Amino acid sequence: MEAIAAIDQRLSEIQARIASFAPRATPLASAAASSLTNTLASSATLYPAGTSFADVLASVSQTSGTSLATAASQLNANGVPASLAGYGNGRIPETSLSLLTGSNERMWAPAAEHLNALLADAKKAGVSISITDGYRTYDSQVRLADQKGLYSQGGLAAAPGTSEHGWGLAADLGLDATAQAWMRQHAKEYGFVENVPREPWHWEFAPSS
Ligand SMILES: [Zn+2]
Repeated sequence: MEAIAAIDQRLSEIQARIASFAPRATPLASAAASSLTNTLASSATLYPAGTSFADVLASVSQTSGTSLATAASQLNANGVPASLAGYGNGRIPETSLSLLTGSNERMWAPAAEHLNALLADAKKAGVSISITDGYRTYDSQVRLADQKGLYSQGGLAAAPGTSEHGWGLAADLGLDATAQAWMRQHAKEYGFVENVPREPWHWEFAPSS
């Protein structure tokens, strides 16, 4: 964690530096994102005088998204996104959720970002993972508890108001044996853990664990 905190600190410094270049930060970022190779080849013509390769690299780093350490810092003592705690479980505003790749399911935006990165890397590795369920509203958790029974009574649903799905922190995945093994080996790198006994499909975003 100390190493991650150090990287996070470094990113903050880089972002502060980019902010000091404000008037030209936007064209820099988009050009850098389009192709780092082109950037290297033609930096003399693409970028204003005084812009170094380090600046370009920093702008690329900035587009890489929320680090696990940053996501972890956004959770409160109960492991819930601090900005969402006031809304309540299953009552999160749409604007705080993001779509998962290849599905209509959503999660808390930083969790979705990391799960989408995981899905992309799994695909590259030839591993197929589908999304069964993401964020659940309070009402849909009530229906699920009716259908599947409460976990505490041998069923497969958390009590309404207590599910990690209600915070946009959990996803249920379609995994064959290969994908299950891949997840157990790699999910941690993306902040995801398998933490509910009897539910090998259920993965939670726990970036600080
Ligand atoms: Zn689940």
